[in-house]
Amino acid sequence: MEDVLKEKKVMHNFNAGPSVLPRSVFEQASKAVLNYNNTGLSILELGHRTKEFQAIMDEARSLVKELMNLDADHEVLFLHGGASTQFMQVPMNLLNENETAAYADTGVWSSKALKEAKLYGNVKVVCSSKEANYNFIPKDFTVPGDSKYFHITTNNTIYGTQWQSIPKVDVPLVADMCSDIFSRQRDFNSFALIFAGAQKNMGPAGVNLVVVDKNILGKVDRALPTIMDYRNHIKEGSMLNTPPVFAVYVSLLTLQWLKQQGGIDAIEKINNQKAEMLYSAIDNSTLFQTTAVKEDRSKMNVCFVMKDPSLEKQFLDVAEQHGIYGIKGHRSVGGFRASLYNALPLSSVNYLIEVMKEFEKNY
Ligand SMILES: *Cc1c(COP(=O)(O)O)cnc(C)c1O
Repeated sequence: MEDVLKEKKVMHNFNAGPSVLPRSVFEQASKAVLNYNNTGLSILELGHRTKEFQAIMDEARSLVKELMNLDADHEVLFLHGGASTQFMQVPMNLLNENETAAYADTGVWSSKALKEAKLYGNVKVVCSSKEANYNFIPKDFTVPGDSKYFHITTNNTIYGTQWQSIPKVDVPLVADMCSDIFSRQRDFNSFALIFAGAQKNMGPAGVNLVVVDKNILGKVDRALPTIMDYRNHIKEGSMLNTPPVFAVYVSLLTLQWLKQQGGIDAIEKINNQKAEMLYSAIDNSTLFQTTAVKEDRSKMNVCFVMKDPSLEKQFLDVAEQHGIYGIKGHRSVGGFRASLYNALPLSSVNYLIEVMKEFEKNY
C-alpha cells in the first residue's frame, strides 16, 4: 500500500468520465475495501441487507435530498444500468403508446434518449442544434401543452454546451443531468424526473442517481417489468435487488465531501471561477479557441480547438508529458476537452493554463 502511494505520479485529471474524485474519498474507500468501519470485513463482501449497508444507503439517499433541497414528493433512487438505461426506463414509465413526449436535441446523448423514447410512444423534437454540430443551446421553440413530458440534457458533455437557465414549460420536465449534477444550483423540485450516471460528478461508474416526483408515476397502461418500475424501487427503499454496493458507498463519500465543502452553493462558486479562468485564457490566446457559442458554454466541459489544427497533436503530447490527463476532445468534435468537475482542484486548472501559455510562447 505504502509503495503504491510513494510511486504515485502527480496527475491532473481532466477526463470526461469516469473522472476525478476527491483524494480523501479514495483514501476512505481504500480503507473500507480492507476493513469497513472496523467490522473486520471488506465493504466488498458485506451483505447488502446488513445494518451497515442499510445505513450507507439511507444516508446516501437523505444526503441527496438535503444537498438538492428536495421536497417530500421527490424520491431518491440509486439504480443500475447507467444513464443509457434511463433513456429507456423514463419513457417506459411515463409515456403511453398514443402519447407524445417532447425532446430538445442538443447532442448525441439527447438524440440517443429520444431514439429510445420512440420505442414507447411518439416523440416530438421541439428544437435541435444538430445542423451546427450542437455548438449552441436552442432558444426559440415551443413545447406543445399536451406533451407528456419535456426532456432536456442540462449539460452536453461532448460539445461543451449547457443550459444556463431552464426553460419554463407547462409540462413535466425530465432532465439528463449526468455531467452537471451537484455542480450548480437549479430549482431541482421543478423537475419531474432527474437522472445522472454517477461517473461524471458524483462517484464511480456503476450506479445511477434517479430523482423522481412520485406523482407522475403509475399513469401508463403497459405492463412494466418489476425491475423497470420506479414505484417498486421506491417501495423497497432503493433495495429491490442487490444494489451496486461499492458504487453507492463511494458516491456517499463524495456527497459527504461535497457537504463538507459547503454544498452546491459553495462548489458552484469555485466551479464558476475555474471555468472563467480557463475560458478567459482560451479567449486571450492566439492559438486556441472554443467551439461552443459563448453564451452557452459549459462550466463543466470546456471544449476547445487550435486555430491551426496541425498543432493539436503536439499540444496533446506536451500536455501528456506534464501529467495532464484526459483532455483529448471527443472524436465528433476533435481538439480538446477539459472537464472541470467538482473534485478537480483549481490548481489543476491553473496548471493547464500555464502549460498552454508555455506552449504558446514556444510556437
Ligand atoms: C456520460 C453521459 C451519458 C451516458 O452515461 P452511461 O452511464 O454511460 O450510460 C448520458 N448522458 C450524458 C449527458 C452523459 O454525459
